Amino acid sequence: MERKSFGEKANNFAKFSWDLIRHVYETQGQELVVSDKIYKERVDTCKGCDKYIKKHKECAECGCYIPGKARIILDSCPLNKWAEIPPEEWENTLKGIEDSMNS
Ligand code: SF4
Repeated sequence: MERKSFGEKANNFAKFSWDLIRHVYETQGQELVVSDKIYKERVDTCKGCDKYIKKHKECAECGCYIPGKARIILDSCPLNKWAEIPPEEWENTLKGIEDSMNS
């Protein structure tokens, strides 16, 4: 079986990337959220962090609003205090995006 050329692979990847970006934009990134379990772990870590501004629920390091930041799977702690996202969480998220793109 003949393999795709590098150019064809790059084209296909570019098309997929664009489709993905457009889909995330159209759905306002609704699939790019973490599970409630990961969300709670992240928020609990922030609440125990010396950079957490309780009054505003903000991170003093990046200035982000933690209840929003902690929900986004692609977001991260600027000081690497959050736990890694388990592979199955990524798989579920990507499967949800794929299903949503195909519906
Ligand atoms: S995002 Fe990181 S640095 Fe900021 S408050 Fe949370 S744990 Fe602390």
